[in-house]
Amino acid sequence: VKSIAVLTSGGDSQGMNAAVRAVVRSALYHGLEVYGVQRGYQGLLNNDLRRMDLRSVGDIIQRGGTILQTARCKEFMTPEGQQKGAEVLRERGIDGLVVIGGDGSYQGANKLSKLGIKTMGLPGTIDNDIPFTDYTIGFDTSVSIVVDAINKLRDTMTSHERSSVVEVMGRHCGDIALYAGLASGAETIIVPEVPFDLDQVANRMKENFGSGKRHSIIVVAEGAATGEEIGRGITERCGMEPRVTVLGHIQRGGTPTHNDRILASQLGDFAVRKLMEGDSGKACGMIRGELVVTDIDKVVNTKKPFNMDLYNLALRLSQ
Ligand code: ATP
Repeated sequence: VKSIAVLTSGGDSQGMNAAVRAVVRSALYHGLEVYGVQRGYQGLLNNDLRRMDLRSVGDIIQRGGTILQTARCKEFMTPEGQQKGAEVLRERGIDGLVVIGGDGSYQGANKLSKLGIKTMGLPGTIDNDIPFTDYTIGFDTSVSIVVDAINKLRDTMTSHERSSVVEVMGRHCGDIALYAGLASGAETIIVPEVPFDLDQVANRMKENFGSGKRHSIIVVAEGAATGEEIGRGITERCGMEPRVTVLGHIQRGGTPTHNDRILASQLGDFAVRKLMEGDSGKACGMIRGELVVTDIDKVVNTKKPFNMDLYNLALRLSQ
């Protein structure tokens, strides 16, 4: 491998820039040529690539979003589109590609790998829904944002003896709700991985207020229900009227935490080294502090296991 490219694809996440920086600087360190593809697979098909140097990735490690921008691209879902993508890279003499994104982006990388381009996937999503890595790039920052928001809500809830329902992102994965809920002492955490009973939620809330609790926070993952549905359900059952807050896209913005920057730096450098070894069609991850690669086929066909121990702990501690 003499020349590689890097792209970001799917939803953006904090730390993608730190990952791009790591890929570019590590490639240059090892004497490779490196190109940045603008706007994901769409940019690849449009031949929107530029040569990157050390300064191209200066002053970005602390920025949210992605300087390479991201896009969703229908054309790349077709075999013709994938063929075209591989040709664009070959014409430029590029033999390796690092794709930073979620599982859809991984599948695209896998297709290119089968067409002879050496590819590596990096888990760039706030959702933490990618298996074979403990955390995805952006998850830590996103959880911090939710915790910070809940702290603020708690101040005002306590003064008014109110309850609050907070809807958080994560798509089909409950990890943002679980981690943020545990870290902020939420009374109830509702996630898609665990069936919930609104009667129980409402009863618990009523009992807790009866026994002197002055506030109550319910965190609900968007994959389980909307905040609106939970709020309405509680009012119907016990007459209390929780305030509903939908945090939305602020969860995807802002400066990445040091954890996300370090994870992105380690994974970005690792992906480059794996490409240099000739590895392809793999996703990079970090499991218990160890850098690992796993076949993309396996990654996209496995559901990330849910951490029931952490969920049960949150339950025990939220009496
Ligand atoms: P996030 O989970 O953060 O939204 P994602 O990578 O899962 O990220 P997708 O929209 O699913 O986001 O995928 C991004 C892009 O990857 C798609 O727009 C498409 O161009 C490409 N892609 C997705 N699935 C495939 C596939 N099966 N084959 C080829 N390319 C694909």
